[in-house]
Amino acid sequence: MCIFCKIVNGEIPNNTVHENEQFLAFHDLYPKAPVHILVIPKQHVDCFQDVQPEVMAGMTMFIQEVAKKTGLDKTGYRLVANNGEDGGQEVMHLHFHILGGGKLRWDHS
Ligand code: C5P
Repeated sequence: MCIFCKIVNGEIPNNTVHENEQFLAFHDLYPKAPVHILVIPKQHVDCFQDVQPEVMAGMTMFIQEVAKKTGLDKTGYRLVANNGEDGGQEVMHLHFHILGGGKLRWDHS
């Protein structure tokens, strides 16, 4: 079972920001910005390339809720999904990074 499935199952603790039946948002353990939240579907999907559009529709609404709940909807934020090896995806369970809490640099090297 992958590490994010273990988080969903409660086997590994997490710092939850927001949750519903389908999705979970929690603070990244190793933040790369003043605010760094991960959003995952509770049902395992490997990566963005494999996700069903219907799941993405729910995910979009959920991410917007997270942004409202944290105030990031007012200040702005960056949404990132690393996909596959060249994309730098380390955990093979689809996740979106929500990054914010300050002006972010743009370095895509
Ligand atoms: O997109 P990528 O797969 O590289 O992102 C994985 C993210 O999961 C990293 O930002 C890492 O800090 C985070 N992580 C976490 N808790 C874990 C393992 C990884 O927040 N237990």
